[in-house]
Amino acid sequence: MKQHTIVVIPGDGIGREITAAAVRVLDAVAAKLGLQLNYQWRDAGGAAIDAVGEPLPTETVAAAMAADAVLLGAVGGPKWDNVEANLRPEQAILGLRKALKLYANLRPIRVPAALADASPLKRQAIDGLDLLIVRELVGGIYFGPKQEATLVDGVLQASDLEIYQEPEVARIVKLACEAAQLRRQSVTSVDKANVLASSRLWRKTAEKVSAAYPDVALSHLYVDNCAMQLILKPRQFDVIVTSNLFGDILSDEAAVLTGSIGMLPSASIGEGTSLYEPIHGSAPDIAGQGIANPLGTILSAALLLRYSLDCAAGAELIEAAVDKTLAQGYRTADLCQPGTTKVSTEEMTSRVLENLA
Ligand code: NAD
Repeated sequence: MKQHTIVVIPGDGIGREITAAAVRVLDAVAAKLGLQLNYQWRDAGGAAIDAVGEPLPTETVAAAMAADAVLLGAVGGPKWDNVEANLRPEQAILGLRKALKLYANLRPIRVPAALADASPLKRQAIDGLDLLIVRELVGGIYFGPKQEATLVDGVLQASDLEIYQEPEVARIVKLACEAAQLRRQSVTSVDKANVLASSRLWRKTAEKVSAAYPDVALSHLYVDNCAMQLILKPRQFDVIVTSNLFGDILSDEAAVLTGSIGMLPSASIGEGTSLYEPIHGSAPDIAGQGIANPLGTILSAALLLRYSLDCAAGAELIEAAVDKTLAQGYRTADLCQPGTTKVSTEEMTSRVLENLA
């Protein structure tokens, strides 16, 4: 039986409740498909600050680097809002991205039929939506040279520089094309090539890379148009690939199409170990109440199986069980509407497990 090591980092707030739920589901899939999963639980974020005085202990990093995959809940909370900037819980996420060289963030946006009415868009625009946003994660304006506000000719001035090198663009577009091959064979590369030099390099590189994928149709869209199209006709997209800044904004815009932030998983792909987490934060306002939606984390576990353990069958089992549970009308408080059955974190997890069986 093949063994896999998964480092589980619950983090803070609802992190412990939702990672526990995802591990129950992973265990059920492992039993069904004959996988052997070994978990190593590690601290990061506020929990690590409380335990050892720093948000990302070197031991956590070492375990993550040696593992087959990392499953993370969320970090942060008001308790640590006033600690020094370089000791804040969120530094754990940036530190892990850096240590694991996580250069791509994959955010699948799916609206199961049962949730189409929870979307702010009309059912006919959203029913069956299934797109994937691939965001470059370690380059661009977030990491370029910065000039904090300084007086220049008596006027305060600040700047941030967007820099992309061809290999950085090439590897993310390659990943997007490979993801599209497993989906509907269409990639939309999003840039601002009418104004930005870095976007013109992005576009040229995307063309070059996609030539090696004749089965994938590449198109280009300016970011302002893409923001509009995501609201007007979101189902036109299969895979969207874009830079760090544009991806940050577009992926949050696309996330609201599903009705609740608690539903959405993500995968951060690295040169070594990849990291899987729901897109939401630690939700301190509902922590410890047992009412958090665990489905974003459970679906992150599905991505972990698909991308890190090469177990697409396990991922599909989980995704189908989640869809079935929603179709049966079970909802955590964030998604509950008249005519549905309100359940706790634990009950929702049990329903998913029943539907896996
Ligand atoms: P948040 O995502 O934690 O919460 C926003 C709202 O969504 C809250 O009302 C919350 O109750 C609700 N919510 C979030 N996840 C939910 C779930 N699974 N089920 C039901 N409801 C859910 O964002 P925030 O309040 O801005 O941030 C709280 C803390 O989380 C902050 O310290 C922030 O820095 C941190 N944060 C961490 C990450 C991460 O770990 N990757 C990401 C974002 C924010």
